[in-house]
Formats: sequence, C-alpha cells, structure tokens
Amino acid sequence: MSRRWIQALALAVLLCLPWLPGVPPFWITQMNYIGLYSLVVLGLVLLTGVGGMTSFGQSAFVGLGAYSTAWLSTAMGVSPWLGLLAGLLLTCLVAYGLGAITLRLSGHYLPLCTLAWCLALYYLYGNLDFLGRYDGIAGIPALSIAGWSLGSTQSMYLLIWLVLLLALWATHNLLDSRAGRAIRALRSGSMAESFGVDLAHYKVVVFVYAALLGSVSGWLYAHMQRAVSPSPFGLGYGIEYLFMAVVGGAGSVWGAVAGAASILIIKDQLQNVLPALVGTSVNLELLAFGVLMILVLQFARDGIWPLIARLGRWLGRHQATAAKPVPWYQDADPLPQRPLPEAGQRVLEVDQVRKEFGGLVAVNDISFNLNAGEIMGLIGPNGAGKSTTFNLISGVLPLSGGHVRFMGQPIDGLPAHEIARRGLVRSFQHVQLLSDMSVLDNVALGAHLRSRAGVAKAALRLDRASEASLLHEAARQLQRVGLGDVMDHAAGSLPLGRQRIVEIARALCGDPALLLLDEPAAGLRYQEKQALSAVLKQLSQEGMSLLLVEHDMDFVMNLTDHLLVMDFGTRLAEGVPSEIQRNPAVLEAYLGGLDETWGAPAGSGAATAATTLAAPDASSGLPMAPATGARP
Ligand code: ADP
Ligand code: MG
Repeated sequence: MSRRWIQALALAVLLCLPWLPGVPPFWITQMNYIGLYSLVVLGLVLLTGVGGMTSFGQSAFVGLGAYSTAWLSTAMGVSPWLGLLAGLLLTCLVAYGLGAITLRLSGHYLPLCTLAWCLALYYLYGNLDFLGRYDGIAGIPALSIAGWSLGSTQSMYLLIWLVLLLALWATHNLLDSRAGRAIRALRSGSMAESFGVDLAHYKVVVFVYAALLGSVSGWLYAHMQRAVSPSPFGLGYGIEYLFMAVVGGAGSVWGAVAGAASILIIKDQLQNVLPALVGTSVNLELLAFGVLMILVLQFARDGIWPLIARLGRWLGRHQATAAKPVPWYQDADPLPQRPLPEAGQRVLEVDQVRKEFGGLVAVNDISFNLNAGEIMGLIGPNGAGKSTTFNLISGVLPLSGGHVRFMGQPIDGLPAHEIARRGLVRSFQHVQLLSDMSVLDNVALGAHLRSRAGVAKAALRLDRASEASLLHEAARQLQRVGLGDVMDHAAGSLPLGRQRIVEIARALCGDPALLLLDEPAAGLRYQEKQALSAVLKQLSQEGMSLLLVEHDMDFVMNLTDHLLVMDFGTRLAEGVPSEIQRNPAVLEAYLGGLDETWGAPAGSGAATAATTLAAPDASSGLPMAPATGARP
C-alpha cells in the first residue's frame, strides 16, 4: 500500500472514530481533550520550539476565548459563532499589546513576564462580577451548524479534530514558506536581520498566532463543557501546556499532538494504576509524573515525536525509493534583478567611522571608498577591527562616529534589514546558518526581501508561485557556487568550509550590489579556494562590488584590486596589492619584519602556510600562523 493510501485511511479512521463499533465513549471524551490541548500546544511549538520564545501564559489566552463566548452567548444572547469572532478579536488585541511590550525582553525576562500576565488574567477572571467571579459562567449553549446541534460528545469530537487538523495543516504550511524561514531564524538574532527579516515583526506575528490557537481552543472548550470557571486558565495549566510541547517535541507540528496525547494518557493511567499498585490513596501521581518528565528530558531531549518519526521511516525502509524527482519549483519565473551600477561609479563611501567598546577603540576613524566592479580587501592581524568595520557598514552595530554612504545615500543609523534592502549584503566570520534547516532553505532566507508573501498567504498555501521563484533562485545560486549536489542536506552536516560557501550563496540570493565577505576562504582546501576565487572574479565582472576580509594572502593578492590594512583599529596602509606587499609598516605589523616570507614562491605548500599571515579562527582547522604574526 502506498504512503498516500495509508495516510488517507488513518485520516478516515480518525474522523469516524466515535462511530466505529466497540469504541468506548470514554476514549472519545479523552480524544476531545487531547484535541483541545493539542491546539494550544501547537501554538507553543511555533512560539517556543521554533521561535525560541518561552511562554508559561498560553492558558490565559484560552481563557480569553472561553470567557468571551461564554459571556456573549449567555448574558447577551449572541450566537456562539459571533462569540468566536469576538474572542479572536479580543485575543488578537491583547496578544498584540502584550507582545509589543514583552517580546523585546531577552533571556529569562520574557518567561517571567508570561508568568506575570497569566496570573493577572487569571485573577481578573476570578474577580469580575459579570464573569461570575470564581464560580464562573454556566448555561452556555451548545454549538449548532445550520440547525444541526453539536451538543453530543461525538459531534464535538468531529468539530475539534477538524479544527485541529486545519490548524496543523496551516501551521505546517506556514513553516514551509518564506515567513516560516524567517520564523525559524528568530533564534539566530542579528543574522536574519542582515537579510531583511524584520525580527520584531515576526516575533509579534508568532506570538499572536499562538494566542489565537489558544483562543480557539478556549471557545471549543466553553461550548463542550457548557460552563467555564477560572481554574483551567491558571498558571498550572500554562505550565502543563509547555510540558506537553517539550515532551512532544517542540520542533514539529505533530509534536503538539504527540505531547498532548502522551501527557493526558499517562496522567490518566497513573491516576488509575498507582493507587492500586502502592495500595494507598496518597496522591503519588505528581511524583511519578515528575520522574517521567526527568526521564524524557534526559533520554529524548528533542521530545518523542522525532522517535516516532524515526520508527515510521524504519518501518517504511523497504519501500522502493523513486529516482530523484525534479524539484517542484523547476519551472518558476525568475526573480527580477536589481540593475547594477556602471563600472567605476562610487558604491560605498566610508567616512571616519569609529566604534568604541567601553574604553577600547575597535575602529578608529577609518575612511575608504569603493567603486562598482571593484574587489577590495580589508586585511590586518586578528583583533584589528575588520569584522567590527563590517558590522558598522552593514548596520549590525551602531556607529560611535562617522558616516557611511551607499550608492550616494547615507545609510548610517539605518536598521540592518533596510541596508540589505538597498543591496548591501554580507556574510559572517563565524558561520551563522540554521543547522537543522536544509541548505536550500538557508540560502532561500537570503532572498527574503525579494518576495512579499506573508503569513496568511503562506498558511493557506496561496504563496506557491512566489515560493517557487525564491527556491529556484536559491538553487541557482547554490549551483553557481558549486554546491548544487548538497541542496537537500541539513546545513549543519556540511564541513565548515563549505558552510561558508553556503553563506556566500545566501548573500548572493539577496541580489546585492555590494557584497561584504568576512573570511570567505577560511577552512577551504586549495582547490576550493581557487573555485571560490573564480566565482568572485566572475561576480565582479558582472558589475558587483566586493569587500572582503581574508587572512590567506595568496588568495587576497591574486583577487583584489585594492587593499586597506588595519591594525589596532587604525588605518595602517592602503594601495594596490603589489605596493602593500612591500610596505615596511605592514610587514612590521604582520611579521615583525620577516619580509623574506613574502618572497616565497606562491602556490607551494610552504608558502601557503607561511603567507596565511594571521591565525584565523581555531575552529576553522587551518594551521596557526607564525607566533610573530598572531597577537596574543
Ligand atoms: P578582527 O575582525 O579584525 O579580527 P574584530 O573587529 O572582531 O577584529 O575586533 C576588534 C576588537 O574589538 C577586538 O579587540 C575585539 O575584542 C573587540 N570587540 C569586537 N566586538 C566586540 C564587542 N561586541 N564588545 C566588545 N569588544 C568587542
Ligand atoms: Mg574578524
């Protein structure tokens, strides 16, 4: 039986479960709760598992959905469907407000804040007269669709699971899109900003999305129970939702269902089995539960869904795998390209830029210009301030002084994503890829600004044309840099040198006019360096300008038109490579005057090692430079 058939059969059994002969009614009730919990946990999978924002407060949003419809349908006599809309609207407003204030907080401040507003809303529900205080609201009507009442457990089952399946589908779609790549990049910090991802915006979007899922769950709960009181919306439940996300596996949408189901079933079984086992009625299930939790965290840190998925793959291992299919985005329309400036036109003007970290002047009034089609090198010993200069130009760090103009326009003070939008794109010295994400998706993140498909379109799968164009472009850039054969691999599985090349492809996806590369050749083998050099030359011939930091002197001397040497944050020398090689101040700074090293025949192994002037990252695995070259 093919996979599709198995899936269709499983879906049919799932939806018809209450009407199958021999299924105990208790199962259906339990399944209803699993569905309701899964909806909330699904939001947490996105928020915490993918986006890295821990929330203990989701139960408060469940309460908003439940209380909105409870009050409107009892006190106001309004249709529950209007109650749903009102609940969603209210949740949206509250979540947006809370998100806009609290999501700026980093580290443990955000989780602490979620505790605070969860408690606040809980006490609000319990103290408002019109919400019935701690007794809550009873007499909530059953749902009905076109005269057909959904009062029975079975019909609520169908509704809950249809809503859950829809939410799973939409969330899965969302993660598999331009917006999804941005959301998966939320944990990475400033890296994604450099490709135009507005992190603050996506944080709020994910937060509101998760809150809305909670609100829908609350609405369903209110009409299933037909009564609400504050207790299911308190902090205890907020923590339990988070538990479920962690146990299920906060990296996959199915982790939500796995987590909710396993915790609810285990809790139920413990309640039945433990008293019989130990022969007392002492409440031991919390203790047992705690032990189980520790075991899960110890032995299945990514949750149980990855284990289930692995088992599924193992069972299906004998199915014949078809030949590599043609990618679905193969025939996509190409993305429009930015016209590049004419050769010789001024692209970048760096004027007296300065950066101070406390008392340390990392970049001391550096100035230089770069014209279209030029390849300029920025060299200097470790700690000279090269990476900091890149961070200043690309907007990753604010300037302490000076100005930067790009294509004639001032860009200092602009946010990194705005600078990227204008065509100044960079790579990082320390590789910053999302290691679990495929190489192709990582590279497509670089093209974020070249499409406008948003969250709603993605969730409803209406973004396919623009998504195909983005992936097509990503594949094209990967082929261009020679990584076409590893597109489907997880980025983290590549050797570090190749990960750097992935970063270059990602930067190229941003359609840059100026490309900033921080140590692109570190960790590459000789042939790989040659290939990279050829790609970069080709780019400059096409009219792109390049500014690169690199320690490999063979590489720099053969590639660049123009060099700037920095030392201790200041400008040491500037000129064409042949002049720089003879500059006594440069030789002094690098080698303490061992100028004969420069004369070694290029290309020989000894020369390559000797002319790798300063030690790059130890992690890149290159031989360390002569002790005189590297600064302690
Ligand atoms: P390079 O890239 O030339 O090796 P960097 O620009 O990374 O050098 O660093 C220049 C100097 O600034 C170093 O002394 C470094 O320790 C310091 N520095 C860099 N970033 C920071 C920071 N965020 N906070 C404090 N000091 C920093
Ligand atoms: Mg550096």
